[in-house]
Amino acid sequence: MDRRTLLKTLVASAFASRAAYAAPPANMKGIEELQKNWKSFVPAGAAVPSPGEPLKLSKDEWRKRLPADAFRVLREESTERAGTSALNEEKRAGVFVCAGCGLPVFTSEMKYESGTGWPSFFTSIPGAFETKKDYFLIYPRTEYHCIRCGGHHGHLFDDGPPPTGQRWCNNGVALRFLPRQSA
Ligand SMILES: [Zn+2]
Repeated sequence: MDRRTLLKTLVASAFASRAAYAAPPANMKGIEELQKNWKSFVPAGAAVPSPGEPLKLSKDEWRKRLPADAFRVLREESTERAGTSALNEEKRAGVFVCAGCGLPVFTSEMKYESGTGWPSFFTSIPGAFETKKDYFLIYPRTEYHCIRCGGHHGHLFDDGPPPTGQRWCNNGVALRFLPRQSA
């Protein structure tokens, strides 16, 4: 085991007690399966838009439509304070949709506890996001935004769990959660 792997193992075991989510599937075929089956996580009767119906609004229209904290993140690429989102604790089965336009972006199966204080996912619904590099903190980071409304959601890192190794670090205010079953 090399140092990097050892370090990852130690960090992973430190967070293991908090890992209350199902472990990600152990192979990429498993990931493909859970990317394909995302529709089964949408609550029965819920109408969700598709990526092919773009939602373009002016900044003022977005300002009127969104709560102030969601506007700052989605339309001004701000970042919420770590640990502030109730979605950190969300463990029910269901689908996470864009708070700007309602497009499904993640399922509960894609979520894991990263220990960062932001809702984190090891993959996303195919076609939901576009990525681009930003240089906000001098070094390049991969920013991702909703393909339908262009809203900024978060940043993509390569220190996530296997097999994808991805960590989609998402602002909670940029998401809404639709539980598959009503309580
Ligand atoms: Zn959107």
